[in-house]
Amino acid sequence: MKVLVVNAGSSSIKYQVFGMTDESVLAKGLVDRVGIPGTTLEHKPTGKDEVVIKKDLPDHTEGMKLVLEALVNAEYGIMKSMDEIGAVGHRVVHGGEAFASSVLIDTEVKKVIKDCYDIAPLHNPPNLMGIEACQALMPNVPHVAVFDTAFHQTMEPSSYLYALPYDVYEKYHVRRYGFHGTSHYFVSHRAAEMLGKPYEECKIITLHLGNGASMAAIEGGKVIDTTMGFTPLEGLVMGTRSGDIDPAIVFFLMEKLGMNAQEANNYFNKKAGMLGLSGVSNDLRDILEAANTGNERAQLSLEVYYNRVKGYIGKYMAELNGCDCLVFTAGVGENGYDVRESICKNLDFFGIKMDVEKNKVRGKEVDVSAADSKIKILVIPTNEELVIARDTLELSK
Ligand code: ADP
Repeated sequence: MKVLVVNAGSSSIKYQVFGMTDESVLAKGLVDRVGIPGTTLEHKPTGKDEVVIKKDLPDHTEGMKLVLEALVNAEYGIMKSMDEIGAVGHRVVHGGEAFASSVLIDTEVKKVIKDCYDIAPLHNPPNLMGIEACQALMPNVPHVAVFDTAFHQTMEPSSYLYALPYDVYEKYHVRRYGFHGTSHYFVSHRAAEMLGKPYEECKIITLHLGNGASMAAIEGGKVIDTTMGFTPLEGLVMGTRSGDIDPAIVFFLMEKLGMNAQEANNYFNKKAGMLGLSGVSNDLRDILEAANTGNERAQLSLEVYYNRVKGYIGKYMAELNGCDCLVFTAGVGENGYDVRESICKNLDFFGIKMDVEKNKVRGKEVDVSAADSKIKILVIPTNEELVIARDTLELSK
């Protein structure tokens, strides 16, 4: 059976088609600038050349139509007919407190996704647009929702509650949720396999360091804490997000810079983080390069970034009472070996010792711990789409 995995954003649709017999990727691609002049489809069939199609499209339904046409195209398609797609898996960012695992999408599920608009205004509306576009075009196959928040639902109130009047939790669901759950789930499972230990017996700290970044502490297969909170803004320093700050700064800067709530939200999500601090870029590669050529602010921003990650490693070591391994994943975690080295420096008190030579690899699954490191340091490329495809297959049986 073939499974189509869809990740719909406000103006983009990412997709992959898996052949589930061997979990191989048959095609993947991206429709960019949906609803904006200059829409393009980049379609990459496995084993064939990439094709780029330019065609202005008004909405997600038209965008999905173009994807399906590409998938059955005689020249660059990967199947004869759309009927070969047995099920569709959708990435949904926020499932609130309703979902601790993936679900088959029905009217009730769509209502919950809508109910979360308030707390995920940038993500859930386009996610639902993607679902409805696919349901309109493929009404006879099961559609499954896989939530970024689901894996973190095992957190205890001591981890997920903020010290705010309790009624804002009850009335407005203000609590910590955590995101990137699908990635933390995938790499922690793979880490247990690499350790040769049952997942239920492992204590793991996962570091998903991409443009957005989060960490999770996982004990016995359950997330006990994670760095992102009510929204993906909390926690680590990210490409353009501030991560943890004194909340009083928000009111202070709203007044000083004359921002309303929406502008302030945009400021702390889009103008802060490594971009704001370094003044160079949101891309860690540019910042590393600038720091290497003597840009002091770039160097300073890296030190703030490392300091925050180290702080959370310490917190999670305390919460877990020790751990079996650290796992680095996502764009920076998989490729930035200098970043991994800086983070793991001077952690030998915890029994964390890196083999810096072994560590000099990019984008590969590898154990980079020194022979005498008590705690393993693993690099594991994440694969959120595969988790979505597997859950989709399982739920549509
Ligand atoms: P997201 O999915 O959050 O957009 P990714 O996980 O794809 O992000 O990560 C993208 C980031 O990975 C880029 O912004 C870049 O900073 C980082 N990256 C990629 N290669 C390297 C590298 N060799 N060294 C450091 N950072 C890298």
